[in-house]
Amino acid sequence: MNKESYWFYLEPYAYVSIKRDSLFLYNTLDGAILENKAPEILELVERMQSNDNLLVVKLEKDFIDQNSSVSHFVADVRRAFMGDLVDTALSPKKPVQMMPLLNIQQDIEKTDRIPNLDIGRDIMKYLHEITIHVNGECTLDCAMCNSAYKQFLCCYKNSSNHNELKVTIIERIISVAKGVGVSKINIIGGNIFLYPGFDKLVELLETIPAQKNFYTHYRNLPDQQEITRLLNSESFVLNLLVNFQVKEKELDFAVGQVKNIPALKTKFNFIVESGKDIEAAQQLIDRYRIEEYTYKPHFNGGNLEFLRENVFITQEKILASRHSMKDIFKKQKVNLFDFGHMVILNNGDIHTNIDAEKIGNITETTLHEAVYKEMTGGRNWRRTREDVEPCKQCHYNLLCPSISNYELILGRNNLCDIMDKNVASGTLHFVA
Ligand code: SF4
Ligand code: SF4
Repeated sequence: MNKESYWFYLEPYAYVSIKRDSLFLYNTLDGAILENKAPEILELVERMQSNDNLLVVKLEKDFIDQNSSVSHFVADVRRAFMGDLVDTALSPKKPVQMMPLLNIQQDIEKTDRIPNLDIGRDIMKYLHEITIHVNGECTLDCAMCNSAYKQFLCCYKNSSNHNELKVTIIERIISVAKGVGVSKINIIGGNIFLYPGFDKLVELLETIPAQKNFYTHYRNLPDQQEITRLLNSESFVLNLLVNFQVKEKELDFAVGQVKNIPALKTKFNFIVESGKDIEAAQQLIDRYRIEEYTYKPHFNGGNLEFLRENVFITQEKILASRHSMKDIFKKQKVNLFDFGHMVILNNGDIHTNIDAEKIGNITETTLHEAVYKEMTGGRNWRRTREDVEPCKQCHYNLLCPSISNYELILGRNNLCDIMDKNVASGTLHFVA
């Protein structure tokens, strides 16, 4: 007589991680998590993960009943809606689980396998953002000038070169960007309003159906008439960089200029280094009734505690957001901050991240060659937490945001203290 048995399966939307002798399951639909350290459970789930099993195994009823850790685990999985049991009498054939596969994975593997630049024509579709430093000239003297731009999009005086990127080069860049459907172009300096080809630059940008972001320090903003003349398209966004302490009169002037141009989308970027800066920014937001704004925490070398409070990740923050299986797969393959982004400096150097080595110069390397180079051998677009210590040992490494420039500047991959926490055995959490 056949023994009673079940197909025990995990749902395709259950994210499974086994690390450091512990198991972590995450329900991508509702955020519930399940953790377990029992060796027999780890062995069971590893068996389920094999290519032969595709998250489905046959379990005898006696085996489940006689093994309390297995029966508890099966009950927890069912309670968390991350899997179930199906009586084999009802389904003699093993149920088939479809595992999602991301196209990007195929393209990356194709470029790895086939060293042929033609293959790279397809991968140009991944180029979605270009940052162009048009010049490195500025008459101001901010203390943050040498460090902020390495952490987030911010202007800087390029002391090693005072070149202006030729408008003919920008024309070529925009022509390629148009052809491959780049969706975002950032224009930054120096003081972009000192760029002699600004009129022509605007003319070129108007031809591409992408979001165009201009970055300027509030003290470098020209008067209203000049702004209206230069930035007269609805697809332009003016990003005003505001650091502290502010020069009140100059900020007042800048706000007055942009507020009088209702058609111009303006976003305030408050560069904050302390809690006091955040309070000051909040007062400005109230005073000027600012609707579009963002905070850019700046590490100035002496405010690590501030970063710990405002940039470091916590378990609560990670679990407070929903992470879809698609997001998880993407983070497994690429760095979401850097992927598809090229930075071109005013001397023509091309970077995939401003903190990384250049991968060419636009006078001799085409964007196509640069993308191909980064996809096949580059390190930034594919810099994932699965590849670095200590994150590779952490269950959250595909839920956590990708590695940002803060990690690069601080010289550590984990801006958190999560690895110090122990995983409890057989714990089920439901996160609302
Ligand atoms: S405005 Fe920008 S470029 Fe000018 S000094 Fe300040 S940070 Fe540097
Ligand atoms: S150790 Fe790394 S992956 Fe884990 S939570 Fe911290 S930063 Fe994220």
